[in-house]
Amino acid sequence: MVAQTRRMMPPMEYVRLLDESAGLDGVIAIHSTERGPAAGGCRLWSYADAGEAMADAFRLAEGMSYKNAMARLPFGGGKAVLRRPAGDFDRRALFEAFGRAVARLDGRYVTAEDVGTGIADMECVARQTRHVAGRTAMPGLAGGDPSPWTALGVFEAMKQAVELRYGGTLSGLTVAVLGVGNVGAELARLAAGAGARLVIADIDPLRCARLAGETGAHIVATDAIAGIDAQVFAPCALGGALDEATVATLQARIVCGAANNQLASPCMAQALTARGIDYAPDYVVNAGGIINVAAEYLGESADQVRGRVLEIGPRTREILEVARRGGLAPSLVADRMAERLMMRRESLPA
Ligand code: NAD
Repeated sequence: MVAQTRRMMPPMEYVRLLDESAGLDGVIAIHSTERGPAAGGCRLWSYADAGEAMADAFRLAEGMSYKNAMARLPFGGGKAVLRRPAGDFDRRALFEAFGRAVARLDGRYVTAEDVGTGIADMECVARQTRHVAGRTAMPGLAGGDPSPWTALGVFEAMKQAVELRYGGTLSGLTVAVLGVGNVGAELARLAAGAGARLVIADIDPLRCARLAGETGAHIVATDAIAGIDAQVFAPCALGGALDEATVATLQARIVCGAANNQLASPCMAQALTARGIDYAPDYVVNAGGIINVAAEYLGESADQVRGRVLEIGPRTREILEVARRGGLAPSLVADRMAERLMMRRESLPA
């Protein structure tokens, strides 16, 4: 089995962030700026050491280059990773210090929220720099919670994958959703609205019960959902859902979900193809959130966000068709497409 590897593009640039008085210890990684400023969220997480934080930042920044290019956004890829200070800490001081570091890059990097950070943190960053999104939404403009946009993009991709595979709509098909948080629950509602039967699983029984009450979904255990008789499997929890055991037991012939980094290892892409399963690449289908964040930064409207999110469906279909014709893994097709797009400069709207 051949592992699919990404071509590392330019050498990774990074800025080490250290400000002891503010509790700031982290890194801003810039993977590509050909299409425009490097854009990607700011993660606050507990890392064993600085090396682990840097490795995560580099991996995530590379992922953002692929996602932003594939979504045709006028941005390159970057990411900030901050080490969570032990014990109590002054969040405002930390994020203002981070904001000053972003300001020093003078627009080469645009930040937003990510795992461990939120709107209030980005408001602190915004006191120091304008190169930040993920702030309080302004009426009529893009911004606010990105989850509904992410869910819509995944739904549009799912409809196209279903049409290509089964020649029809979601009506009467079974969709298995693993993880019914912000995105998974909204995706489940959209699928139910299109006539799909739902099977759901989550480690949080309350979330399952609430959604089942709303949609009539059938609840199963998290370790049973991949093996149930369904046409579509939608991983919407954490990364790594598609490991060897899951791929071997999957009944669905389509995988299309919101979670980042669904493939537990690159060779799982080939394993899915070998089993005749269409895998809609995660970063292609879950770009709705970053599309919303990018539009907020550019001062665009919610209508412009909708237009870009609706393009995710046909884009996914094209990737699945090319993969099918060439007997290739769709993630490989997507990576090569994104690498070509990454090298193309896009101009920011005036
Ligand atoms: P969330 O925290 O609201 O929901 C995640 C859900 O997964 C929760 O209900 C949680 O209980 C459940 N979960 C966690 N571990 C689980 C496990 N082992 N088995 C089953 N369920 C488990 O997060 P979200 O915002 O809905 O994001 C879901 C996924 O989509 C994440 O991987 C995220 O990185 C990705 N994503 C989200 C967005 C967005 O706009 N929110 C954008 C792009 C990608």
